[in-house]
Amino acid sequence: MDITKLIRDNIRRLKPYSCARNEFKGEASIYLDANENPLNTPYNRYPDPLQESLKAKIARIKNVRASQIMMGVGSDEPIDLIIRIFCEPGQDNIVAIDPTYGMYQVCADINNVEYRKVLLHADYSLDAGQLLNAVDGQSKIIFLCSPNNPTGNLLNHTEMEKVITGFNGIVVVDEAYIDFSPDASLLKVLDHYPNLIVLQTFSKAWGMASVRCGMAFASEEIIGYLNKVKYPYNLNLLTQSFVGKQLDFESRKNRWVEMIIDQRTSLAKQLTDLPRIEKVYPSDANFLLVKVQDANQLYNQLVEQGIVVRNRNGISLCLGCLRITVGTREENEELLNVISALNDPLHNSGIEMRKAVVKRTTNETDIYISLDIDGTGQTDISTGLGFFDHLLDQIGRHSGMDLTIRVRGDLHVDEHHTVEDTAIALGEALWKALGSKRGIERYGFCLPMDDCLCSVALDFGGRSWLVYDTNFNREKIGEMPTEMLRHFFKSLSDTAKMNLNIKAEGENEHHKAEGIFKAFARAIKMAIRRDAHNNELPSTKGML
Ligand SMILES: *Cc1c(COP(=O)(O)O)cnc(C)c1O
Repeated sequence: MDITKLIRDNIRRLKPYSCARNEFKGEASIYLDANENPLNTPYNRYPDPLQESLKAKIARIKNVRASQIMMGVGSDEPIDLIIRIFCEPGQDNIVAIDPTYGMYQVCADINNVEYRKVLLHADYSLDAGQLLNAVDGQSKIIFLCSPNNPTGNLLNHTEMEKVITGFNGIVVVDEAYIDFSPDASLLKVLDHYPNLIVLQTFSKAWGMASVRCGMAFASEEIIGYLNKVKYPYNLNLLTQSFVGKQLDFESRKNRWVEMIIDQRTSLAKQLTDLPRIEKVYPSDANFLLVKVQDANQLYNQLVEQGIVVRNRNGISLCLGCLRITVGTREENEELLNVISALNDPLHNSGIEMRKAVVKRTTNETDIYISLDIDGTGQTDISTGLGFFDHLLDQIGRHSGMDLTIRVRGDLHVDEHHTVEDTAIALGEALWKALGSKRGIERYGFCLPMDDCLCSVALDFGGRSWLVYDTNFNREKIGEMPTEMLRHFFKSLSDTAKMNLNIKAEGENEHHKAEGIFKAFARAIKMAIRRDAHNNELPSTKGML
């Protein structure tokens, strides 16, 4: 295949801009060739226009020759350049799968090049024959995307090769998500196909979308044209050196990919179980295409809860679909919590759902709390302090609230921040989840008596106050300092805006602490009880 014949005449004839750094290559001791400022090293110098050292590293990682790489400001840059190199505006056309990434059409439109869409099968698989049927003598480029966006699936290798061998023009395969299915990359057949261009990016698996750095891989001849047409200094010094350094952490990228794939599996499974979700499509990428009941409504409801996904309803073959990027475990859990709460019949009948998620990160602690007041007492607690976990566990179990608490604190310093910050965040979660407080009992009290006498009374009246009348003789129970118990309830009553009165006496310190938490949980259970038929505020002042 003669690639030269496919190049637009003006591009073939183009004499590219020759910059100072092109004309003199090598090391000089004094640079007076580029009208740079001699001061402010190293930022005063123009960067390497061909990014040689960065490409050398990428070539090693990707197992290609450096001369087969063109670096771009994101992979969006090569998409545009490829169209400008091969397509005569108003004359030539591009053929692409549908649905796919929107930038191909935008770049075609900007360049005034006809863009022909060929539907994928209903299961989003590729039909090479149909794609090639749409080709005519003016077709210069075919765009494929694998794994495809927004459908998430890899395209079949054999079908793609049929397209590449059956088309007398350029085939671009966009592999933006290939790090999530690395074995499927077409880079290994790059040398077989002079008309193949593979696009990859640092924006997804490598976690550098803000850096704007992408790659095109192709024959030396095509790379030569891309270099001729691009802005001479398209990648600045900061990008080149930063990306170069990040490449040393490939194993970290691989761990991220593993984590995201794990999360993708569990998110897909849990989404499937929700009644509002009709179908979760299989994914080879870091997102899920999900068919839901009333996509526009769900999209808006999620936005109201502070969660933004991509609404793909209305795109070809994606009727009723949302595209959901896989986030961290906590983010995915929150998404699931919010969607399942929307499914909650109580919620749909207009009664507020009493759930909250609180995230709190400081230099000392990193805390995640998820609370469902109307749960069944399910708990999942890990603070790094065994006895503290045990106490917090009492709160969930004996109040009937579902409670997840995950804390990573500076326990190497001491227990103080972990206990205090957990209390602050838990109080905040209680306060948020209680919401309007309509219909609730508001007051709770409990006085259990086994070998310890503990009494706890509380009032969710909106003002914080603590009476704490007990003494511990031991300094610590497990690793938990007993002096921190008072501190815990003080911080909790502050952020939950509750009035709390605690008294306890007894011999066994473990039982006494546990008794306080149990009594506290029972008092909460009483105070949060809600009468759905009496949706009033339990206050004569009209506010709490
Ligand atoms: C995200 C994405 C890209 C990446 O674009 P950059 O400009 O490199 O950030 C390319 N192609 C597809 C299909 C994408 O989804």
